[in-house]
Formats: sequence, C-alpha cells, structure tokens
Amino acid sequence: MKLKGKVAFVTGAASGIGRRIAEVYAREGASIAIADLNETGARAAAHNITANGGTAIAVAVDVTSETHVERAVAKTVEELGAVDILVSNAGIQIVKPVEQLEFEQWRKLLAIHLDGAFLTTKACLKHMYGAKRGGSIIYMGSVHSKEASLLKAPYVTAKHGLIGLAKVVSKEGAAHGVRANVICPGFVRTPLVEKQIPEQAKALGVSEDDVVKKILLKDTVDGEFTTVDDVAEVALLFAAFPTNALTGQSLVVSHGWFMQ
Ligand code: NAD
Repeated sequence: MKLKGKVAFVTGAASGIGRRIAEVYAREGASIAIADLNETGARAAAHNITANGGTAIAVAVDVTSETHVERAVAKTVEELGAVDILVSNAGIQIVKPVEQLEFEQWRKLLAIHLDGAFLTTKACLKHMYGAKRGGSIIYMGSVHSKEASLLKAPYVTAKHGLIGLAKVVSKEGAAHGVRANVICPGFVRTPLVEKQIPEQAKALGVSEDDVVKKILLKDTVDGEFTTVDDVAEVALLFAAFPTNALTGQSLVVSHGWFMQ
C-alpha cells in the first residue's frame, strides 16, 4: 500500500490512461477523485473502484473552466479530506496540417492541455501548501513532449509546454515538499488513439494497418504499443516517491520510440 492515506485528484479519469492510474492508486490505498467532463463515465469509474473495496468519488469538471476546477478541487477536499496528488491527464487530439487547422481547434486543444494543467495545479497547490503535507503533481505529457509528428502542431506544442510548467512548479513547490514531474508515454490504445488511426489514414492516403505499423510504432524497439498499466506504474512511482530528489523530471515510457 504505497499511497495509504493519500488523496489523488485525477483528471480525464473516466477513460483510458487516467482511469487505469486511478485504479492503481486506489489499489495502493489512495482515495480518488475521478474528475472528468464525462459525468457518466466518471461515475462508472468511481463505482468500479468502490465495488473493489476502494474509495472514490466522481467529480464533473471541465478543466478549461476556472470555476469548475476550483469547485471540483474544493469538493474533493471537503469529501476526501485533502488533496495530496494531482494527475493532470485530461486531453484530446486533433489531427490536421497547420495550414488547414482552424484557430478555434488550436485554442481548444491548448485550453484543455495547458489551461487545464495550470488551473488544476493552481487549485491543488493552494490546498497542498495550506495543509503542509507536501504533494506530488504529475502531468501527462507524451513522446510528443520531446519529438514532433506530422499533423499534430497544437498537441506537440502543448505537450512540450507541460515540461516547462513542471520545471517551474518543481522550483516553486520545493519549499513546501511539492514535487512536479511529467510522464511521456508512447502510443497507448485508448479511445484517443483509436479515433486518430482512421483520421491519419485518410489524411495521409494510407491504410489503417500502415498507420499503426509504419507511423505510430515505426520507431519503437519492438513494434509494441505502450499499455495503460505501463503508464500507471510510472504514475505510481512519481506519486509515491517520498522526497524532492525526484522532481522537475520527464520520464519517457514508449518502447524506446524516444531515447534520451
Ligand atoms: P481518452 O480519450 O481515453 O481519455 C481522455 C479523457 O479526458 C476522457 O475521459 C475525456 O472525457 C477527458 N476530457 C477531455 N476533455 C476534458 C475536459 N475539458 N475536462 C475534463 N476532462 C476532459 O485518452 P487517453 O489516451 O487516456 O489520454 C489521456 C492523456 O494521455 C491525454 O493527456 C493524452 O494526451 C495523453 N497521452 C495519450 C497517449 C495515447 O497514446 N493514448 C500517449 C501519450 C499521451
């Protein structure tokens, strides 16, 4: 039980990577706020944890809204007693070449990934500093925090930006025992990726099988997808690490797609 007595606020936890992180944290003894735009999905994810003996609440939130985020974090502290871990994970993907990308699409993606990271960080930090229990902030970056791909300008821009935010938060949070790190996964077969396979196939005029083998997994060491469990294990490491020795870092979990 590596997270016994801790409270985690996990955004985008109704689905995919966030949902698995929430389950692993609950298994390790943490109480979880499943914070997601998808209320029904959030309730189902929270129910799944409580049915397995864990503690979880569903919190409806749009991470781009300051009011929503403040309310959601306050509700978490009220119902679960604190907030010790933030996983800023909610995200979307938009696949288009720059010259065809609408300004609204650019703004929407940056708002979810970057405004969402800022707003949740700000709301959680206030509670973390006030409670004097330290804390761990984890941003869901991507190999696209380090590398670029065709058709993904706003996503690559946002994911690079999260590394900058994590570095600043790690410096400011240090005096309060608050650490900040970024996880950078390779491709994981979640709804976010399932949606973009046909979109990329169409945009590039190739088959879906070619998108998987020749684009998504081309540079991995073994042609394998990363899994939600792989990412959740890294999220557990960052959440449970007890000191400021591990802060301001970005860890790539991608079957060797990117090596640093
Ligand atoms: P997913 O689509 O399965 O889950 C994303 C969740 O975010 C959904 O439950 C959705 O409702 C929620 N969400 C979207 N907009 C929101 C908003 N405004 N407010 C609150 N919640 C919102 O996707 P996933 O693959 O699990 O992605 C999770 C994170 O991991 C994202 O940040 C993504 O960029 C990142 N990531 C994914 C991959 C991958 O290959 N799947 C790789 C690297 C990084």
